[in-house]
Amino acid sequence: GGSGDAGKTYTVGVDTTYPPFEFEEGGEYKGIDIDVINAIAEEEGFKIELKPMDFGGIIPAILADQLDVAIAGMSITDERKAKVDFSDPYFDAGLTLVVSENNSDITSMDDLKGKVVAVKNGTTGAQYAEKIKEEAGIKEVRQFNDSPSMFQEVANGNADVLIEDYPVIAYAIKTSKLDLKTVGDRLNGDQYGIAVKKGTNQDLLSKINSGLQKIRDNGKYDEILKTYLGE
Ligand code: GLN
Repeated sequence: GGSGDAGKTYTVGVDTTYPPFEFEEGGEYKGIDIDVINAIAEEEGFKIELKPMDFGGIIPAILADQLDVAIAGMSITDERKAKVDFSDPYFDAGLTLVVSENNSDITSMDDLKGKVVAVKNGTTGAQYAEKIKEEAGIKEVRQFNDSPSMFQEVANGNADVLIEDYPVIAYAIKTSKLDLKTVGDRLNGDQYGIAVKKGTNQDLLSKINSGLQKIRDNGKYDEILKTYLGE
């Protein structure tokens, strides 16, 4: 406390459509990420302005000084750590394969030969698909800018399979009438972190980590999870 930063407004990049982490409802932005960053800002005495954008545009926007912070279900990866600094992890996730409900020929990563795989631009899922493309014999890795378009492509039968973060697709299947199901094992243990511009934002990063710890300690974080994920 007592710093000249009190009341400062930071721009925060969020994914446009990524329930339960961020989504629009009744003209308002909601979700786990939105509530977490608001709770941290309140604890640490700064203000935020949300900037919804395609996920693939978020890190470039941080690098271009258009964003101070990003919270977007963003997995902490070594590759990204070369470009941004991450807060302590705040959520455990992992990738899964998703097919249409009536699909029975894809049950694991071993069944992708000749298949069209839908992914979202700039995500760990996209990176994973590109990495295994040749060895798995994937016919095409098709890029989308947002998750709902990617889900539709598979639900409509225009792509065979998609790769998405497990908590996101599980929530989408539960809350909307998507004819999709997850198959196979979860691919890896991702952890979400809050990103800030590399090297230059240590003060903001310590506030974010301190706020995160406070909302974990005072029960606010658990309350937020309960709001969106239930018991
Ligand atoms: N967790 C994934 C990643 O970091 C997907 C994030 C997203 O689609 N918003 O790439």
